[in-house]
Amino acid sequence: MIKGLNSLSTLIELKVNSAKNGGRCVACLSPNAFNGLCIPCQNDLPVNRWYCRLCALPLPFSAGNAICGECLTSPPPFTRTLAPFRYQFPVDGMISRYKFNRQRKFARPLIAGLNHYLAHHLAHASVTLPEVLIPAPMHPHRRRKRGFNQAQEIAEQIGRELGIPVANSLVRRKHKVQTQRGLNREQRLRNLRGIFDVCAKVPERVAIVDDVVTTGATVRALASVLSIAGARDIQIWALARTPG
Ligand SMILES: [Zn+2]
Ligand SMILES: [Zn+2]
Repeated sequence: MIKGLNSLSTLIELKVNSAKNGGRCVACLSPNAFNGLCIPCQNDLPVNRWYCRLCALPLPFSAGNAICGECLTSPPPFTRTLAPFRYQFPVDGMISRYKFNRQRKFARPLIAGLNHYLAHHLAHASVTLPEVLIPAPMHPHRRRKRGFNQAQEIAEQIGRELGIPVANSLVRRKHKVQTQRGLNREQRLRNLRGIFDVCAKVPERVAIVDDVVTTGATVRALASVLSIAGARDIQIWALARTPG
């Protein structure tokens, strides 16, 4: 099943990504895939079952409306984070292949999962429908290098499904930041200060869309800017959340 993802050879990868084999599971090559994964591999994906209701940090237990320590000591400038998967095997590898090698097949099952998850939350929970989706902006230089902004692609697919417009140029990333790795929380926030620029009127209800929410420092910085610009209900929608 999904363990096979580890041993995908380049040749098999090519096969999986060719149009001819479009119906195959990206993890085990079973021919009965739906949205890129067969049912057993779909069921093996690490679902973010228990999580902080503000930042979606995975929690080891079920605790209803739990809030993590970080959000308790330093409340975030957003109302909630919705991320259906945990950023661990095999979701981490699938997102990397999509992001760095532009292999959209690996993102398809995750985006479908996010769509399903959002539809469920919008129908059953007290989640309000945002007026626009804002893809986490990428610095133009990096975007040119990568060829696309994965957050924008995800936002456009989600937006189409849910009927929400995507505001691609509402926020601009002004300059590159040094890598966040190895920095503590304070340093991370300082590192990110002043990197986002709001270019147009911001509606009251928005959702920031990204592929992965990691430390939350980037979305905190982006949400702060949007909040200052007038947003009142800011949600974060992502494919996956890192465990810490
Ligand atoms: Zn499979
Ligand atoms: Zn939290």
